[in-house]
Amino acid sequence: MAYICIKCGKKIKSVEGSARCTFCGGRILKKERPNLAKEISTD
Ligand SMILES: [Zn+2]
Repeated sequence: MAYICIKCGKKIKSVEGSARCTFCGGRILKKERPNLAKEISTD
């Protein structure tokens, strides 16, 4: 399961124990949703 830092927008693959962004040190991560962008349809 991949996570995305909401602070810098980087994707973090491995979050073991302490959920923390390895790029900016942000502690707020959200789970990645793979199919979110593909379900949009415009008529
Ligand atoms: Zn970050």
